[in-house]
Amino acid sequence: MRYAVVGGQRVGAYVGGRATCPYCNGEVIAKCGTHRVAHWSHRGMRDCDTWAENETDWHQAWKNRFPIEWQEIGYTAQSGERHRADVKTQSGLVLEFQYSALSEAERISREQFYTRLVWIVHADRRLRDRKNFFASLSGPLHVASRLPTFTIHRDDSALLRDWGRSRAPVYFDFGETKLGRVLKFV
Ligand SMILES: [Zn+2]
Repeated sequence: MRYAVVGGQRVGAYVGGRATCPYCNGEVIAKCGTHRVAHWSHRGMRDCDTWAENETDWHQAWKNRFPIEWQEIGYTAQSGERHRADVKTQSGLVLEFQYSALSEAERISREQFYTRLVWIVHADRRLRDRKNFFASLSGPLHVASRLPTFTIHRDDSALLRDWGRSRAPVYFDFGETKLGRVLKFV
């Protein structure tokens, strides 16, 4: 995770840092190596959120588009189940930045947990994802309201097979456009 608590403040990981996890109050230690982006890691145990992904540059770049106080927000369902949303806006909308593969069962469980969810998906992970996705847009283009809209088949690309049944809006990030030009919340 990106932020942990030192002296009552949420702070980013720094070399030699020790802090408290704001969700489970466990001890976390800073990991500031060269292979992974700087982050906090639970000492001697897995992350207290079983849904947590390894933090990447990509995650942090996306989270940093939003105010710190919206990032990594604990979210408790009525059942008492608790997870950490990547971003939760003031209006309660949850944004999840998904870098690694996610099974259909995992995707559905997150969509049931976060009632107002938007997915941002790292869409350039597999070799052919980008090529196949854009090839599938060769069908007729409809312009509905202000958004160009295509009718496409889920079987045309692996990305659509993975995400086409999602009940939440899904945005694919192909890593080609500066983030600030795509989506900006104020
Ligand atoms: Zn924790």
